[in-house]
Amino acid sequence: MTTAASQSELIDSLPTDLFIGGQWRPARENARFAVENPATGSELATVADASIADGDAALAAAVTAQKTWGDTPPRERGELLRAAFEKVTARADDFALLMTLEMGKSLTESRGEVTYGAEFLRWFSEEAVRIHGRYAVAPAGGSRLLTLQRPVGPSLLITPWNFPLAMATRKIAPALAAGCTVVIKPASLTPLTTLLFAQVLEEVGLPAGVVNVLTTSNSSEVMDPIIADERLRKLSFTGSTEVGRSLLKSASQRVLRTSMELGGNAPFLVFQDADIDAAIEGALVAKLRNIGEACTAANRFIVHESLHAEFARKLTDRMAEKTLGPGTDENSDLGPLISEKERDKVHALVTDAQKAGALIKTGGAVPNREGWFYQPTVLDDLDADAPILQEEIFGPVAPIVTFSTESEAIELANNTEMGLVAYAYTRDTTRTLRLAEQLDVGMVGINTGIVSNPAAPFGGVKQSGLGREGGFEGIHEYLETKYVGLPGPDATP
Ligand code: NAP
Repeated sequence: MTTAASQSELIDSLPTDLFIGGQWRPARENARFAVENPATGSELATVADASIADGDAALAAAVTAQKTWGDTPPRERGELLRAAFEKVTARADDFALLMTLEMGKSLTESRGEVTYGAEFLRWFSEEAVRIHGRYAVAPAGGSRLLTLQRPVGPSLLITPWNFPLAMATRKIAPALAAGCTVVIKPASLTPLTTLLFAQVLEEVGLPAGVVNVLTTSNSSEVMDPIIADERLRKLSFTGSTEVGRSLLKSASQRVLRTSMELGGNAPFLVFQDADIDAAIEGALVAKLRNIGEACTAANRFIVHESLHAEFARKLTDRMAEKTLGPGTDENSDLGPLISEKERDKVHALVTDAQKAGALIKTGGAVPNREGWFYQPTVLDDLDADAPILQEEIFGPVAPIVTFSTESEAIELANNTEMGLVAYAYTRDTTRTLRLAEQLDVGMVGINTGIVSNPAAPFGGVKQSGLGREGGFEGIHEYLETKYVGLPGPDATP
């Protein structure tokens, strides 16, 4: 357990004002809002509560810095990102503790997120120097075709609370590598990690105005005018499909470039030829990583009828043995959910499923303790059309349904408006290829419960979003292709 003294020392050392144009400054009229520790429900800190005028100042700072940053040699941009990678890594314990305090996950998971989040800085530091155009002879000969990649320009980044560091670095790193300046608005539930990260960027010498941080409790009111402002060239959002839809509507008014990483509803398929013990290990990772609060969380366990009884029993036993407790306690496996509202939403999904006939094999209750904890829960005997199978649960709840044929399994997996990720356990190679081609998702995990990797393109199809983050693809979300037509070398001068 980290001590209360080390926790308050870290909290007291954090910047809590807005970071605009390289300056830490209070919000207009000194407005502030509170950040809570979900393990206790008590206040951790207060941060500046930006107004519309602060939003305008942040965008203005990003616009002012754009030309110089876009013209900064790629190697210099990359080296600043690399320095940020080193510094975040050196301060891994502080970032991990801070995320555990404001978001709730265990310290082990927070340390994992620091490694994952920092890696976007290293990956894109290396990509900054690999931005290429091309030169071609037109098919009919004669003219020449030249293409350049140019930074899109000032970008607005809006991030969710579930991965406070990684969702910020997954956007900031490619934007900066591409030569874009940014305004970032972290979730109001977890703004502290982004503020600490901005301090790291300041310390490594990032020029003023390249990254600006707006914390606000009035997201819609403060973001709308920025999205409507013609100086903004790009919106990158990670969050719920509902909010993503409404932001897309606003962005459409200006035909703004957008990237949308939205909700998921991942199927986890277990075929009759699976290694069942490996499938159970994968299921626990895919379900309980981040306390189930991940867009990539396995949301529906779709299990072949021949393995159903064994899978349900083993998953129930393993879920039931998890210890709930504050993430700062090294003995706890599962921290609290993010808020009382989210915890109540998860419980309502479970009670509704039970009323509709589901069998609760373990869990299913709100434990009697402070904080927003929820018992790890396994639901069995669900009908294929049970409403919970259409909802993103965002908590430690595992519903199980069965299938008898591969085509039925694929149909069940694809029966959702979401299409982020799917997991499958099978030892049949040809089945693997059929699944890779037929599952209607942006990412497939075969015999693994985790697919996230900074070197891979992360993103979804259908209502799970638009665009990709990470991998070679990630930087292209912040680049425009410009084409220059030229006469060929034989043209008369
Ligand atoms: P959310 O409610 O959609 O909020 C996401 C962000 O948008 C927060 O910063 C929020 O600010 C802001 N926001 C909310 N309403 C807004 C508005 N009208 N205008 C401008 N900004 C607005 O989502 P969440 O509850 O934080 O995160 C959970 C969701 O994120 C899940 O659906 C999950 O699947 C998704 N997610 C997707 C990915 C992915 O890569 N596909 C990754 C992680 C999470 P406030 O905090 O002030 O409300």
